Amino acid sequence: MTQALSQITESLRDYNPDSLRVDLAQQAIARCITPITGTDTVPLRQALGRALAEDIVSPINVPSHDNSAMDGYALRGSDLGGSDVTLAIAGKAYAGHPYPHTVQAGECVRIMTGAVIPRGCDSVIPQELVKDANERSATIPANAIRPGANRRLAGEDLAAGSVALSRGRMLTPSDLGLIASLGIGEVAVMRRLRVAFFSTGDELRSIGQPLDEGCVYDSNRYTLQAMIERAGFDAIDLGVVRDDPAALEATLRDACRQADAVITTGGVSAGDADYTKDMMARLGEVLFWKIAMRPGRPMAFGQIKVDGKGALFFGLPGNPVAVMATFYFFAREALFRLQGASAPPLPLLQATSAEAIRKRAGRTEFQRGVLGVDANGAAQVRLTGAQGSGILSSMSDANCMVVLDHDAGQIDAGMPVRVIPFHGLI
Ligand code: AMP
Ligand code: MG
Repeated sequence: MTQALSQITESLRDYNPDSLRVDLAQQAIARCITPITGTDTVPLRQALGRALAEDIVSPINVPSHDNSAMDGYALRGSDLGGSDVTLAIAGKAYAGHPYPHTVQAGECVRIMTGAVIPRGCDSVIPQELVKDANERSATIPANAIRPGANRRLAGEDLAAGSVALSRGRMLTPSDLGLIASLGIGEVAVMRRLRVAFFSTGDELRSIGQPLDEGCVYDSNRYTLQAMIERAGFDAIDLGVVRDDPAALEATLRDACRQADAVITTGGVSAGDADYTKDMMARLGEVLFWKIAMRPGRPMAFGQIKVDGKGALFFGLPGNPVAVMATFYFFAREALFRLQGASAPPLPLLQATSAEAIRKRAGRTEFQRGVLGVDANGAAQVRLTGAQGSGILSSMSDANCMVVLDHDAGQIDAGMPVRVIPFHGLI
């Protein structure tokens, strides 16, 4: 962090830590992040989901030659006219086997998709549009194609010398193919971000332990690890820590030594935060916010430092749905920035609400929804029943988040709302 967190937050208009707008909190976080350094060189096949450490500049044109988009006949556009024309077939051009001569006026060449367009030709007529064809000649009907038709131009996918993919890009399946199409087999990527996490709470039991009265199994570590790994980062599980400042401090120190970012859950709501604030202040600068959102009101954010080594810190609320909402809408983007990557954009769509939704103006709400289509095929969303921040099944039953804006009030059935689908193709 180049600037003290307090300076950054003070420079934000309308900054109020006790009722902080979601967008302001996101801005404050974004301004506090300096990307990590350190790169790995990896074979292309191992680069999926990694962040490019440098631009990929195309060393060649892709495709390298003008080639045919169709099976048919390559010809000279200037031979075509307002009436049928019969051209002599001078030879063949197949993919990987170019026609070696220059095509003369009145000639054509039998050509297959992907084959290099022979010298002299500029157009391809698909075979199904040819009127008569035999071994020696083909008759092209009047006005069947325009000159230049069905020709893929050299460099139309990627031009030599151009930036094919930019530094910071999280590589997708198509990116790997694209890099391969340039003949590049290894790429420099950012080293993988290390994210340590632990759960806090005296009531938490780990799987395999008996569930004492009043206790719950710790689910947050499982959700968190999965979200961290889905984003492509290394997850370091530091277990469950009791509500005890000394134990908490010891684990935080351990986490800070090992990781670039530390995420905890639980213990940041009003009463709990009191005894952790002093301890956190000894480790760095951590702000305790009440965010104007639902679920997920309390959250701590800052930077901690141990033996000169810093780590970004997120203290997420304890409730399982609040953990997911605060991770997705605050930590996710921050972790990508810290990784030196551009966060894949959230797919924000509009759908009509199938039902009325109670909503109070003055906070952003992230409700869990099922996105589908109505009788006319238009996008429509319904909620997944009870929306309590402890009801994790409301997430499992959902396929999207319904985002109700800060200023929005009551939503009536049929009104448009914004949704973020959980899954996409990539
Ligand atoms: P807290 O923010 O610590 O007050 O926790 C709020 C609620 O979330 C309490 O009901 C906790 O039992 C629950 N909770 C906290 N941490 C976890 C966890 N790791 N797994 C499941 N539930 C949790
Ligand atoms: Mg707790």
